[in-house]
Amino acid sequence: MIVSRGTARPLGLLSCTVDSVIAGLAFCRRSTPNTHRFARRAIGTRMNKERLWNAIHETAEWGATPDGGVRRLALTDKDKAVREWFMSTTKSLGCSVKVDEMGVIFATRPGTSSTLAPIGIGSHLDTQPAGGRYDGILGVLSGIEILRVLEENQVKTHAPITVIDWTSEEGARFNTGMVSSGVWSGRYTLDYAHAIPAVEEDETGKATLRSELERIGFLGKVPASYTANPLSAHFELHIEQGPVLEDEGKKVGVVTGVQSMGWLVVTVHGANQHSGTCPMDRRRCALTSAARMISRVEEIALSAEGLSTVGVINSWPQSPATVPHKVVFSVDLSHHSTEVRERMIADTRAEFGHIAHANKCTVEIEDIWNSPAVQFHEDCISSVREAARSVAGQENVKEMMAGAGHDSVHTADRCPTSMVFVPSKGGISHHPDEYSSPEQCALGAQVLLESVLRYDDQLKAKDTSR
Ligand SMILES: [Zn+2]
Repeated sequence: MIVSRGTARPLGLLSCTVDSVIAGLAFCRRSTPNTHRFARRAIGTRMNKERLWNAIHETAEWGATPDGGVRRLALTDKDKAVREWFMSTTKSLGCSVKVDEMGVIFATRPGTSSTLAPIGIGSHLDTQPAGGRYDGILGVLSGIEILRVLEENQVKTHAPITVIDWTSEEGARFNTGMVSSGVWSGRYTLDYAHAIPAVEEDETGKATLRSELERIGFLGKVPASYTANPLSAHFELHIEQGPVLEDEGKKVGVVTGVQSMGWLVVTVHGANQHSGTCPMDRRRCALTSAARMISRVEEIALSAEGLSTVGVINSWPQSPATVPHKVVFSVDLSHHSTEVRERMIADTRAEFGHIAHANKCTVEIEDIWNSPAVQFHEDCISSVREAARSVAGQENVKEMMAGAGHDSVHTADRCPTSMVFVPSKGGISHHPDEYSSPEQCALGAQVLLESVLRYDDQLKAKDTSR
């Protein structure tokens, strides 16, 4: 993933502290009842680049690895430590903090409306086993920086603002990604999620997501549900995790949705045969068939302008002197269009069948995970678009779809949602070398803040027009 070129607003401005708040905020402090104008005037309020950067690197100590990365698997003691910091920090900023049955933390700053659900600013504080310092973390810590800036400048929003740490987004320790937002949205049941076993290092071998929530004291009582604990909207700042913004010299991505993605598991059956005695024309080699299939699926993806990856392959019986009788491999297919991805799957099935037949083998294809494309909400997208153009200059903004899953995929099922991307150096993510600069992080946080304030203005306008 990741950024930079000429900007309408010099990046230097982003390093201003809150002391340089725009003059309009003086208006806010005169306790006028016009909260719609409050939020409008707050647009332009500056994030504190140094403070955000320090928070990223100070909290990285909970799980820091010698190579500069972070290993903070969900619901470990290190995750517990950063969660406790999140709670104490947001409480000190005047937020009410609640924890749901999935351990998701909601730190809420009140608005002037007593009826509107909060606008969520969410991402995750857990990491991959060999993760970096920015994936998910930037989104949550930018939310906290926003709380600080709103508080320091006495900005009153119309809707409450809630900063969210979604539990176990990565799915690294409990093998379902975006699981807590999935329970919140109703895509997964609470029982399913609570029963997911921990896959590593626990001494008893019986640890589950629920038992680990209990162990670290984060099994909350608030229902993990969009009905009992609703949001007016959800905004998420994230590193791009790909190279597009950097390659194109853009500073901000306005994320309009998430591409369709999923996995096939392919099993090829042939026959064990002696490598030295079986003539080539008699062979039923599962691995040769698989090799031809792997090559073909890449051609299918290229012609559809999609993506294909074969990341796992195993063959049996693992003897240099025996023709393999069985091969199992994975195929990850992605495309911006759900329909085109389905055609890619159909083409893959047909082609793999032909290849297996031509090689005297058979093939089974299981569609084990299938996530349709997600279109974010136009009201949220337009808030991000306007904020991004205002902060970074139109020429530095790119509209794009996300290639990876995020909690916003699930929130989009239940409330208006959009995301902000900033570049990742070299497109690297899920790796200690993950990096976005202080300027890139602050720019993204600034766009996030202004997106939320613009959306809050929309909510206020709807309320007052009733
Ligand atoms: Zn993430």
